[in-house]
Amino acid sequence: MLETDVLVIGAGPAGSAAAKHAALGGADVILIDKKSEIGTPKRCAEGIYDHGLKWLGIDPDPQWAVQRINGGVIIAPDKTRLTLDESILPEKGYIIERKVFDKYMAMDAARAGAKIMVKTRAKSITNDEDANGSFYLVDCEQMDEMIEIKTRIIIAADGPESRIAKALGINSTTKPEDMMAGVQYEMVGVNCERMDLVELHLGAFTNGGYAWVFPKGDDIANVGIGIKASSEKLAIDFLNEFIQSYPPLHNAKAVELNVGGDPIGGMIERIYDDNLLICGDAAGQVDPITCGGIILGILGGMTAGQVAAKAIIDKDYSHERLKEYSIRYDEITHGAIPKLKKAHDVFRSLSDDDLNQIVHAFYGLDYKNMDPKDFIKVAFKLPIRLALKLGTIFKAIF
Ligand SMILES: Cc1cc2nc3c(=O)[nH]c(=O)nc-3n(C[C@H](O)[C@H](O)[C@H](O)COP(=O)(O)OP(=O)(O)OC[C@H]3O[C@@H](n4cnc5c(N)ncnc54)[C@H](O)[C@@H]3O)c2cc1C
Repeated sequence: MLETDVLVIGAGPAGSAAAKHAALGGADVILIDKKSEIGTPKRCAEGIYDHGLKWLGIDPDPQWAVQRINGGVIIAPDKTRLTLDESILPEKGYIIERKVFDKYMAMDAARAGAKIMVKTRAKSITNDEDANGSFYLVDCEQMDEMIEIKTRIIIAADGPESRIAKALGINSTTKPEDMMAGVQYEMVGVNCERMDLVELHLGAFTNGGYAWVFPKGDDIANVGIGIKASSEKLAIDFLNEFIQSYPPLHNAKAVELNVGGDPIGGMIERIYDDNLLICGDAAGQVDPITCGGIILGILGGMTAGQVAAKAIIDKDYSHERLKEYSIRYDEITHGAIPKLKKAHDVFRSLSDDDLNQIVHAFYGLDYKNMDPKDFIKVAFKLPIRLALKLGTIFKAIF
């Protein structure tokens, strides 16, 4: 039997960040993942924004930050293109190579002192008590063998299909309408006007989501679509129709297919319990509007790891002690996820005609010489119903 202070289940970005920060805080840490290669297969469009990286203290590394992104293009249902590039936007970003990034994050955890075990799947968990307090015993399958890990704290970072939190009594089920079904090809031969801007295609054809083209360098891009998981038509049918309808993709060929879900219904009811912390997709730490979960998940992992290490030093693994994680996460994110969820509900209610009107209102403006008040004036030129909806979305984002 192996023994540790903190067992992190899942070596995605959230789990690796948790393992790193628990180890830096002085705890003995084991990080397990059921995959034989961390980061593969990817289930991500690989977009990340600069201020998120700064927030986390992660310097972009050319090994994984493969394409500089200078802004984006919003494409309305009537194909009006609203370009928000470096001449307007202060914020930039990267398309990253997740297969490299996830390993880089796990290596960082290892360098901080965490023990990494790949091809190790948590199968079942029981709890017990000894002279030092309560603990969990986790049965894991490693290759064809069963091993047992005794731990004071579990950090569940087991991704969008998370089972760990539920097995430990937390209501973490995602309703079908709160699950984004994503499907994506990595394609070569893509010929967008600018290969340093992300493209977001809006409209009813995405059934409550959006389609994207995220350039990855040269003529390569992630081309995907995220729709409501409860849709009657398959996401891949929506995606294939989009590719056929969009000329810059007519000569593009797929070299990879990525399929995955993402919880966009906001955070689960409770992200901590006795001897337990939950982070990343498993906790619903995802922006419901963009479906971005890398930054918010790492932030969750980092905070969970720090709180776990302190709890180990204090020898107090109770939910009262671990509650600090939830409080700190809300403080750091300024309660962003519930606000973004509200904004997403409004976004989903917009018809194609509404989206066209909004994009037209913001098309061709002299953004460089506009201040926030000017944006409000533009919004209020729209019908009042739309202006109010837009106000709710802006309030959540900015
Ligand atoms: C199509 C699509 C596009 C996306 N695009 C973006 C984007 O552009 N930008 C962005 O920020 N986010 C994006 N996301 C979301 C992002 O990919 C996730 O939010 C992020 O990967 C969450 O990280 P995580 O560490 O919580 O979980 P994951 O990365 O899912 O990692 C969970 C890990 O847990 C392991 N695991 C699960 N169960 C067990 C077990 N029982 N035992 C051991 N190991 C286990 C898995 O093998 C996995 O490695 C996208 C998602 C999808 C589906």
